[in-house]
Amino acid sequence: MNELLQQLTEAIGVSSREKEVRILIRDLIEDHVDEWHVDTMGNLIALKRGTGQSDLRVMVDAHMDEVGLMITGADAQGMLKFEKLGGIDDRALLGKVVQVGPKKIIGVIGAKPIHLLTGSQYTSIVKHSAMRIDIGAKNKDAALGKAKIGATAAFLTAYEESGNTAIGKAFDDRVGCAVLIELLRADPYPFDLYAAFTVQEEVGLRGAQVAAYGINPDAAFVLESTPAYDMPNEEDASPNVSLGKGPAIYVMDSRTIQNPRLVSYITRTAADLDIPFQFRQPGGGGTNTGAIQRLRGGIPSATIAVPGRYMHTPAMMINLQDYAHVVQLTRAVLGGFTQDVIKRN
Ligand SMILES: [Zn+2]
Repeated sequence: MNELLQQLTEAIGVSSREKEVRILIRDLIEDHVDEWHVDTMGNLIALKRGTGQSDLRVMVDAHMDEVGLMITGADAQGMLKFEKLGGIDDRALLGKVVQVGPKKIIGVIGAKPIHLLTGSQYTSIVKHSAMRIDIGAKNKDAALGKAKIGATAAFLTAYEESGNTAIGKAFDDRVGCAVLIELLRADPYPFDLYAAFTVQEEVGLRGAQVAAYGINPDAAFVLESTPAYDMPNEEDASPNVSLGKGPAIYVMDSRTIQNPRLVSYITRTAADLDIPFQFRQPGGGGTNTGAIQRLRGGIPSATIAVPGRYMHTPAMMINLQDYAHVVQLTRAVLGGFTQDVIKRN
């Protein structure tokens, strides 16, 4: 069992409430960094000093937050109303167990039993605004006494492994956090490495923007989990990325065209070391690169991701070999990184 992934995914950290994850990561990295601090937004920023060979400042980002829900009220029956934090498909919500607020009160997103459905109810999609979280409260006051407005709720999923496959919640982006922790546990790099464990990515790349502005790096790498859609299709659609085929390298998404020099450097490094890799199908979605790239005078940035199925649901799936390859690749990418890689002519 990969204990690091288990600890990181079972911890809760819905956007804006990342404290539990932050404290866990702080304890895991403290002995491997020279300094760390938490900024006003809640980003955990750690400095691992380099060997002195290079005076570059390199930032590596992974976001701590996960998608979840925020309590917005309760009805007379004692059922909690909620809003979504981050992109969650309403169809992934019904019947799921959640943990509400800092005390982790267990609730279930209620659903009408199939026995009682009639007519079009079998085929229509229930909107999240019509759903409630049931924590077993008997009326409105009892419900709001236990879960205040503004409290957040996270999915409840135990981490499991089966062979090379791992299943759990919040691999987006705790798997990126795990890679970044592994990078900090290695020997120093030629330059100062700024590890940014950022907040509020799922609600619009908010933490990374502040973190990168503060760090003011010469280049940034973003570690992510990217949606794999490699199940059998009815049409002949090419998969976004596939599980088990190695690190996914971003080229373009809805917010960025990744720095082409960095992309070719990353792929060259992978090829040199015989690490399998795949390009993430250019298209929609976005990562913290979208926020970092256009800060200050521009920061060369690129994203490397671990493919994950069933993103933003209570049960994601990753391949542990892909994870190991992302660790290996990013270590090599940092190890060989020089000013020449990003120099434009
Ligand atoms: Zn993510």
